[in-house]
Amino acid sequence: FRETFMQIKKTAAIAIAFAMVSSASVAQNYPNRPITLLVPFAAGGATDTVARVTAQTMSKLLGQTIVVENATGAGGTIGATRASRADPDGYTLLIHHIGISTAATLYRKLPYDTKTAFAPIGLVTNAPMTIIGRPDLPPNTLAELVTYIKANGDKMTFGNAGLGAASHLCGMLFMTAVGKEVLTVPYKGNAPVMNDLIAKQIDLTCDQTTNTTAPIAGKLVKSYAITTKTRLGSMPDLPTADEAGLKGFEVGAWHGIYAPKGTPDDIVRKLSKTLQEALRDPDLVKRFNDINTEPVPQDEATPEALKAKLVSEVDRGTTFTVKLRRGEAAP
Ligand code: ASP
Repeated sequence: FRETFMQIKKTAAIAIAFAMVSSASVAQNYPNRPITLLVPFAAGGATDTVARVTAQTMSKLLGQTIVVENATGAGGTIGATRASRADPDGYTLLIHHIGISTAATLYRKLPYDTKTAFAPIGLVTNAPMTIIGRPDLPPNTLAELVTYIKANGDKMTFGNAGLGAASHLCGMLFMTAVGKEVLTVPYKGNAPVMNDLIAKQIDLTCDQTTNTTAPIAGKLVKSYAITTKTRLGSMPDLPTADEAGLKGFEVGAWHGIYAPKGTPDDIVRKLSKTLQEALRDPDLVKRFNDINTEPVPQDEATPEALKAKLVSEVDRGTTFTVKLRRGEAAP
C-alpha cells in the first residue's frame, strides 16, 4: 500500500510540475497567431468603435494582430454565446458592455451562465449615453420632448440594438420615467439605428457618446440630454437628464473584455496587463476623449474588478428589471 501511495504521489508531483511548465510556456509563446475580438453589435457603432481603438493599441503591444469580428444579433447575446463556446486558448475574446448583465435577467433562457461562462480580463471604459432624436423632431428640449411623447407617443418609434442592449435599457428607463410607451424597433447595433435616425425613418434613440458625438456635433440629430450625473466639459450645452427634469435618471455603458471560461490564468494575466498598458497609451486616451469617454482607472482593468462588476450588475439587473416590469421608475 505504502509503495503504491508513494508512486501515486510521485506521478501527481510530475503531473503538477508538467502542468506548471506547460502553462507557463503557453503564456510565454502567447500570442503566436492572430486573436479574434468578437463585438456583439454592428460595425461602426458605439461598442465597435471602442473595440477597434482598444484592439489596435493592444495589437501594437502584443506584437500580434487582433482581428475585430462583429458577431451581431439578439441584443448582443449571439456574440456572447459564441465567445462562451470558443476554445479557451486566448485566441477568441469578447468585448461587451452593460448589456451582458441586463440580458441575464431579460432573457428567459440564455445558452450560457453569465456569471460563470467567462474569464474576465478587465474593464475598459464607462461611456456616457445621450438621448437623441431625428433632426426634424419638433421638440427642442427634454421638457418639450416629454410633453411631445405624452401626446404623440403612440405614433412614435424608438430604435435600439435589441433586447438587453444598452440602448434598450436606456429607452426602457426613459419611457418609464416619462410614463408612456413608445414602439421600440430592434436593430443589430446602433450604427444602423443612427443611419435610420439621421434619415428620419425612426424618431428616437439613446446611445453611447462613442457613437453619437459626431452626429450631435454635426447637428445631424437633435440632442436632448446626457445620462451622466454632471454635464460633460466637451458638450457644455447638453443638459443632464436629471437637470432637464428626469430626476435621478442616470445610466452609463460600462465595457469589459472577456475570454471563455477555462482560459489559462497566465494568458488572462498577460491580456489584462496589456489592456492596462493600452489604456495608458496617450493616443488611445485622446481617441477615447474625442468620442467623449475615457479609460477606466488602472485597477479596474483587472480580472477581479470586471468579475465583481459583472456579478453585482447581474444582481442589480435582477432587481431593476423586476421593478420595470411592475412599472416602477428604477433603478
Ligand atoms: N450602443 C449599442 C447598444 O445599445 C450597441 C452598439 O451598437 O454598440 O447597446
